[in-house]
Amino acid sequence: MMSRFMPGRCLNGSLRQLLPLFCLLITSVLTLAADGASEAIRDDLTTEYAKQIIRHSKMAEMKGMLNTNIDPCNDFYSYACGNWHRHNPAQLFGNLMTDTFQLISKGFERRLQRLLQHGTMKSNLEEKLQSFYRSCLLGHSGEVEYYSGLHSIVNEYGELPLIKGESWQASEFSWWRIIAGIQQKYGKKIILAVDIMADIKNHTVNRIYLGPPDNQQTIYLSNTMEDSDTASDLQKYYSISSHMAKQTAKEMNDLKRNLSTGGFQGTSLEDDLTLYTVSELQEKYAEYLNISEFLGIILGPDNVPEEIYIYSESSLNNTLQALKATPTTTIANYVLWQLMTEFRIDVPVNKIQTWCTERTKTIFGKLAEHILYERYRSPEAEAEVHSMWQQIRDTFRKELAGDKLDWMMNKTRQLAIEKLDNMQLKINAYDNENFETLYGNFTVDRSDYVRNVQHVLMAEAKRRLQRLHNPPASLEATDVLSFTPAYNILENCITIPVALLQPRYFWDKNYPQALKYATLGNLLAHEMTHGFDDEGHKYDANGNLAPWWDNKSRYEFEERRKCFQAQYHSYKYGGSRLPESIEQSENIADNAGVKLAYKAYLRWLEQQPPAILEQETMAGLELTNRQLFFVSYAQLWCDDVQSLFKTSVATVDNHAPGMYRVIGSLSNFQEFSWVFNCSQQAPMDPEFKCSIY
Ligand SMILES: [Zn+2]
Repeated sequence: MMSRFMPGRCLNGSLRQLLPLFCLLITSVLTLAADGASEAIRDDLTTEYAKQIIRHSKMAEMKGMLNTNIDPCNDFYSYACGNWHRHNPAQLFGNLMTDTFQLISKGFERRLQRLLQHGTMKSNLEEKLQSFYRSCLLGHSGEVEYYSGLHSIVNEYGELPLIKGESWQASEFSWWRIIAGIQQKYGKKIILAVDIMADIKNHTVNRIYLGPPDNQQTIYLSNTMEDSDTASDLQKYYSISSHMAKQTAKEMNDLKRNLSTGGFQGTSLEDDLTLYTVSELQEKYAEYLNISEFLGIILGPDNVPEEIYIYSESSLNNTLQALKATPTTTIANYVLWQLMTEFRIDVPVNKIQTWCTERTKTIFGKLAEHILYERYRSPEAEAEVHSMWQQIRDTFRKELAGDKLDWMMNKTRQLAIEKLDNMQLKINAYDNENFETLYGNFTVDRSDYVRNVQHVLMAEAKRRLQRLHNPPASLEATDVLSFTPAYNILENCITIPVALLQPRYFWDKNYPQALKYATLGNLLAHEMTHGFDDEGHKYDANGNLAPWWDNKSRYEFEERRKCFQAQYHSYKYGGSRLPESIEQSENIADNAGVKLAYKAYLRWLEQQPPAILEQETMAGLELTNRQLFFVSYAQLWCDDVQSLFKTSVATVDNHAPGMYRVIGSLSNFQEFSWVFNCSQQAPMDPEFKCSIY
């Protein structure tokens, strides 16, 4: 089944918004030279010959993307990425979009699939993971057991009106009691979500947050396609007539679409967060549900606090009104069908291996990443990431302490340095997780997929509710974080997913440093900047919501932000201009990221003996080390997008489309045009440049 929505995309209105400030698109796959090389030369990578092949292979991959018929000073994106689409084409019935991070995520999944299929497991926990995967593969063949398993899960909450027909009793169905029960038991959030997280204003206490679930706001290309997919699934599971399946699918999906339209009003999460007492809410929402009882079902009656945060109140109101206008039978069908999606195996047999790999990764999240990372972990790569981080942080610290950023008042600059010094970098290897406690108490049965999913979900749900009694922490989003670095604003911490450190994508010890600074270094610098952008400057060095900028500096920041707003709005994509959004965080981070990474690279260069310079160019590419940096940076953002899909990309994502991540940031960076000897008339070197950091 074609994937119609885009996982991994930052969506407004979600509590998760506080976490992955650097979401990237992830859809699906094609091979890259780097990955092919890893197969061919796995045997001995230490010989001089192997080292040469590694470098040569990277060079060939980079060269393959270049379109040297285009003048880099005219359009650097088309120069650096002009041939990307030939190697990685987007397809209308396949990957609507291809990009570098998708290649990385697919590389990671292929690795995981190999491990699950043929790997030697080293512990009971690892065996559980493998057994889970196998139970998923077998899900189809044991049909009777599989279907009866599914129905027993759902029947705990009643039967679908869809199959019960006239005899279904609407009066016995209470949607909010059912969704509360499901969240309590399985952690699955349907219609409403209750989260436990540190208070954003004061990290010493936990708070309950109530709002719409993250996945409620997805993007669909076509309602008709989505309805017909659901209809055929319904028919498959409940031998019903095609007419009835179509009708029910449309009703359920209409409800889903109505639920997702409430929208997020503020420009940032805290603008859309209100603290209420539960008794206020009890009264406010009395005609829809009993809030106190609802929270009691999920948290336990003794754990209902006096006050909770409501987030995206407008969405919540929209949700409640949408429900009021919907027949109970539709709500019941929708809720129970949503529950079933967690346990269903919905994939053609020829794609089952990939699907089960993804599923294993989703279900076991951190454990899957931890186990796989152990297989390719390189202390050398980790050390280098940390030292690159030091270089970048020092570079920014110097800028803050110098006179270049004198539009910031001294006191605010001092606080910025403190925040910077307090910022942490974490590679998400999950070394300190207690997986044994989490997964140790149940067995994984190779012949019972549904039961296995049930066990894992229950264990996870229990662990999440346990957060109430644990020291306050911010939310985790392993599913999103897996392939994208992130800045966690509440912890003032940058996290690097282990997938990015797979050999020979961004890192190999034989690659020129220019490449590593342009990719990993740039990503670190981008994330770091989020601590100091329009959102970041409201959170202090400890991640508490406590604005620390003086008014003058904020005013100056705002003036500079408007420059980006106008610049990016002047760009056209898929026939229309990029939105004139006041959300400029991503563009600010892109612009500062590449500058800081480049300066850090130059500082690194200065510290090297001259002989190292030879390693900083690549035979076969007529580029200086500095040019290599910029090409590598631009190629990070190569993508191919189906034209039909371009408007959604431009309007929904806070990140500019790949081409403007390159053109926007480099045309604002004077050093770039010096490095490529651009004339003063060149489009990549406009006279007027936007800049914040
Ligand atoms: Zn970002």
